[in-house]
Amino acid sequence: MKTISIVGGGFCGCMLTLHLLKKRQSKIKIHLIDKSEKLCKGAAYSTEFNFHLLNVNAGKMSALQSDEDNFINWLKENKYPYNNEDYVPRKLYGNYLSNLLYHELNEAPDNVDIHIEEAIDVTLENDKAVILLESGKKIISDKVVLAPGNFSPQSDNDPFEKYIDDGIYFTNPWNHQTIIDKIHKEEDILILGTGLTMIDLCTTLYFNSHKGKIHAFSRHGFLPAVHKPVYFYEPFYHEIEKTSSLSEVLSIVKKHLHSHKQQGGDWRDIIDSLRPYNQKIWMNFSTNDKALFIQKLNRLWSISRHRIPQEYQITIDELLKNNMLEIHSGKIDTIVKTGRKLNITVRKKNNEQPTSLSVHRVINCTGPQLNYLKLQNPLIKNMIQKGLIHPGPLNLGVDATPEGKVKNHYNENIIYALGSALTGVLFESTAVPELRVQAEVLADILLFSELPVPNNHTTFFQNP
Ligand SMILES: Cc1cc2nc3c(=O)[nH]c(=O)nc-3n(C[C@H](O)[C@H](O)[C@H](O)COP(=O)(O)OP(=O)(O)OC[C@H]3O[C@@H](n4cnc5c(N)ncnc54)[C@H](O)[C@@H]3O)c2cc1C
Repeated sequence: MKTISIVGGGFCGCMLTLHLLKKRQSKIKIHLIDKSEKLCKGAAYSTEFNFHLLNVNAGKMSALQSDEDNFINWLKENKYPYNNEDYVPRKLYGNYLSNLLYHELNEAPDNVDIHIEEAIDVTLENDKAVILLESGKKIISDKVVLAPGNFSPQSDNDPFEKYIDDGIYFTNPWNHQTIIDKIHKEEDILILGTGLTMIDLCTTLYFNSHKGKIHAFSRHGFLPAVHKPVYFYEPFYHEIEKTSSLSEVLSIVKKHLHSHKQQGGDWRDIIDSLRPYNQKIWMNFSTNDKALFIQKLNRLWSISRHRIPQEYQITIDELLKNNMLEIHSGKIDTIVKTGRKLNITVRKKNNEQPTSLSVHRVINCTGPQLNYLKLQNPLIKNMIQKGLIHPGPLNLGVDATPEGKVKNHYNENIIYALGSALTGVLFESTAVPELRVQAEVLADILLFSELPVPNNHTTFFQNP
């Protein structure tokens, strides 16, 4: 009997479990390991607040690539009044995933053992993986899949780090209940980062009737773009695939953006038409071009690619209009603690007079730490130390084949990775439309040691 351990029971780990159960032809044992009891939900879908919305519309959020309407049908069956174009509460999406998983688990209760514990180490012994849990328990299996999801933000040489113990500085931006329990409504707040996580947190503060001032800061001060209807644009990957140079890819994309705009089209149509090809484009870049992209273009790409629903925009506009939220850009210059507050100066790029802020709390919303060399996580640290995993391109995630077989010098077929652990390899390994493909492909590899044949509806790794 084949045994497979999956570390991480978020979207990826749970959907992999589901596919393994659906596709199995002989008896298997799956060990699904998660340190949290909220299986399927992870940081994204464990929110209890209905105002936290998906940032992808319901029509594109089926967990199963072979059944595009699965989520919409689930909403209808359960009498939730949402259509394809709606942005549904994330909490509801978490319930949908749990329903899918538990339906499958009920059909095959003996095939899955769930361990609510942190996995802290893996060793290889006699062609098996031995997974060590925090309690000291060991699980021996034929294969192990790392699906740990996103790690909390971590800034380099973080000047706020010394204020963690005072309770001034929060480094986990996803646990909103803890944040609002600890912060008084009248307190002034500085949010580091102006992306999706900042928008999410501002929404929580708004609905919690926060009275204090919210400052949001990032180097550029760019906010995510807003969703608008997207129209089909003929894919132009055949032009891009002829080159592996970032500058040439950029000029092709700019050409299409320009001509589409001239004809009254919207840039979103172009960005979304690239979606099925983003991983291939990334994989073709040289390491230098990958680094250049991350350094110069990633922020612009993120705000265009990962957009917010109109509902969020309305809240942010309201906060800005009422002077409850202020966006700052530039560089943090000085931080001085005075009583319970931090006095902070922000220097703008054009060297204008610095802006002074005085805040009670600082929350790091700069995005997940994806550099695996910088992680303090015991599992990742131990596995890197043993040479069982190596950091991926630019140290992002782990080094692996595009379908998730981890590359190490033991060259075994035992360790695999899924989800954001593949960011360096695939770049886009973040959202449901690509993760659902990965989960299904990996199930085939684990069960049958072979790649499935891509069908007409999918490119190999991404779903259009
Ligand atoms: C706030 C937020 C909103 C998002 N909204 C959307 C959206 O609207 N649409 C979309 O497509 N994507 C969205 N995403 C992206 C989201 O990350 C993916 O959709 C998906 O949830 C990722 O699944 P995952 O399994 O890789 O990670 P997660 O869902 O984060 O799960 C990882 C799990 O691994 C567990 N774990 C980690 N390390 C260990 C260990 N050592 N031992 C045991 N357990 C461990 C964690 O407890 C966690 O449960 C959002 C992300 C965030 C953070």
